[in-house]
Parts: sequence; C-alpha cells; structure tokens
Amino acid sequence: MQVPAPFEYQRVSSVGEAVGLLDSLGDTARLVAGGHSLIPMMKLRLANFEYLIDINELHGELGYVVTEPGRMRIGAMTRHRELLESAELAAAFPVFGDAESVIADPAVRNRGTLGGSLCQADPSEDLSAVCTTLDASCVIRGREGERVVSMEDFHRGPYETAVGDAEMLTEVRFPIRPNGSSAFEKVERRAGDWAVVSAGAAVWLDGDGAVADARVGLAAVGPNTAGIPGIGEELRGKAPTEELFARAGDLAAEACDPVTDRRGSAEYKRHLAKELTVRALRRSVARIGASGAGTPGAVQGTGGEGA
Ligand SMILES: Cc1cc2nc3c(=O)[nH]c(=O)nc-3n(C[C@H](O)[C@H](O)[C@H](O)COP(=O)(O)OP(=O)(O)OC[C@H]3O[C@@H](n4cnc5c(N)ncnc54)[C@H](O)[C@@H]3O)c2cc1C
Repeated sequence: MQVPAPFEYQRVSSVGEAVGLLDSLGDTARLVAGGHSLIPMMKLRLANFEYLIDINELHGELGYVVTEPGRMRIGAMTRHRELLESAELAAAFPVFGDAESVIADPAVRNRGTLGGSLCQADPSEDLSAVCTTLDASCVIRGREGERVVSMEDFHRGPYETAVGDAEMLTEVRFPIRPNGSSAFEKVERRAGDWAVVSAGAAVWLDGDGAVADARVGLAAVGPNTAGIPGIGEELRGKAPTEELFARAGDLAAEACDPVTDRRGSAEYKRHLAKELTVRALRRSVARIGASGAGTPGAVQGTGGEGA
C-alpha cells in the first residue's frame, strides 16, 4: 500500500488562522481542502509536506454561491456537488453544470472543492476552463489583506499559481452580463476520467441577434487551461452561424499547444479543441434562443440544448 511520508496535521477554523499558520510554516506546509488531488500526490511521493493544514472547517465561511447585481461570488470551499446542485448557478452559468456532471464521480464531487481544483492547476482540470470561459477573477487572502487576480494571471504554469506560500484562495468572482449563455464539452476515455480535451464557451448577443462577445476556455491542450486570444473581437458584430463557429474552431486549434500522451496524439487533441469549441459555441447560442433571450437585459438561460 502506498502511504505518504510522515506529516504533522492541524485543523483550522478561520481564514485568519489558516493564513497565520501558512505564514509561520512557509513552504513546508500545504492546505488540504477535499484532498482528492493533494493526498494521491503525497501517497505517490510526488509531493511531500511537513505540515498539512486542514481547511474543511472553513466550509461555513467559504462554502457559498451568492448572486449580487452584476456578479456572482463563489467561495473557495464550495464543493463540486454543491456547484452541480446550485439552481442559481445553473440559471446564470449552465457551463458549470455541464462540466460538473462529467468531473470524476460522486465520491470525488462530495469532497473536492472549487478552490482545490483551481489551486491544483492541473493542465487537464475542467473548472479552470469554466472559470476562464466566464472571465472570472480570483480573490487571494494573505496577512496583508486581499488581492484580486484575473484567471489569465492566476495560473503560472502546470501545478503553479499566483497564490503565495502565505496566502490562500478565498473566492472566485464572475461577471453577469445580459443576453448570454454558456456550455461545456468534454471528451474523456471513460466516464469520470480526466479530459482528453475539454472546452467551455460563453456567448452574448446584441439586440439584433449578432454576437456581442464570446469567450472560450480550453483544458488539456497546453501547460495550463487557457482562453483563445482575440476570439471576442473575431466574432463580434457577426451573425452566430455555423461558418462563424467553424472560424472560432480554427482559432482554437491554432491557439492550443497539446502534447502526445497516453490520452491521445497532439494532432487528435488539436482536432478535438476545434470540434469541441464549435459544439460549445453552438449550444451556448441555442440556449440563449431557448431561454427567450435575444432581447437585451434577458438573463442567461438554462435549458433547450441545440443541435
Ligand atoms: C479519481 C479522480 C478523478 C478526477 N477527475 C477529474 C476530472 O475529470 N476533472 C477535473 O477537473 N478534476 C478531476 N479530479 C480532481 C478533483 O476535481 C479534485 O477534487 C480537485 O482537483 C482538487 O480539489 P480538492 O478540494 O480535493 O483539493 P486538494 O487536493 O485538497 O488540494 C489541491 C491543491 O490545492 C491547494 N488548495 C486547496 N484549497 C486551496 C485554497 N483555498 N487556497 C490555496 N490553495 C488551496 C492544496 O494545498 C493543494 O496543493 C479528479 C480526482 C480524482 C481523485
């Protein structure tokens, strides 16, 4: 049986206590949230830490989905299951439910957290693609207070983030914009597996039904999940047609940098990046139509899958 190297374990009951401990222990310590990424890595001896700081008691402080005018805030300790079951989230950002329904299995979803997913910074991780799609920003707390970092700047490389040794991610914020919707597509080798490739898309339409803005987030096709530069400008002002989706798919294939591994060849993954981008954009636009949006000010829709 694989076991981790010995470590000291401590539970904390507030963000302040967690940050204080991190500050005094430095890079010898690591937070443990759901533990579904950290503990397997420690068991495989791919990571060793002298101290584990258990933040599960912070679920009361950091487990929430809150809608405010113009934005939604989700606490870092919100678990996959809660994200999957949130009606508020499904109404505003259906891309979340799409992604959560294909992340791992119920056991992982019962414990794994939004914060742990983003901070693990696995290049194949799905929620970072969702957060990139939705133009999220990450709230990081340290001894000196809070700072806010865009998703573009949050990931510094595989398994590396902007969160410092004495800091923690506390919240992720999402702008809510009218007349849009979103969708997520993933190809996995078997149910519950990590992505071969996954793609999130969000589209907003103007009063004439043309694209006002669009965003795409891709996972498993580069060192980190990433958006597609210039996609909003490329699609803006144009009718959301199959030709336009195909153009966006081409941009996705050009923007990504996949490697050949046991999940597939680089060529196959590039093809998937293109195809999944097209499908996610198509479904996003179909959802706007199905929600009765198409009039400025309408909220994002949930149902009515397109082709
Ligand atoms: C069998 C299996 C299948 C999986 N399949 C998928 C999949 O298909 N798609 C997918 O996206 N994911 C998948 N996962 C990963 C799963 O989503 C994990 O729950 C997630 O990656 C990590 O969340 P966690 O809360 O368990 O984090 P932990 O394992 O507790 O922590 C991960 C890292 O984040 C740090 N951390 C945690 N919280 C914070 C915080 N608030 N601030 C700063 N640092 C923090 C920890 O110190 C650690 O370095 C799978 C996992 C397993 C075990």
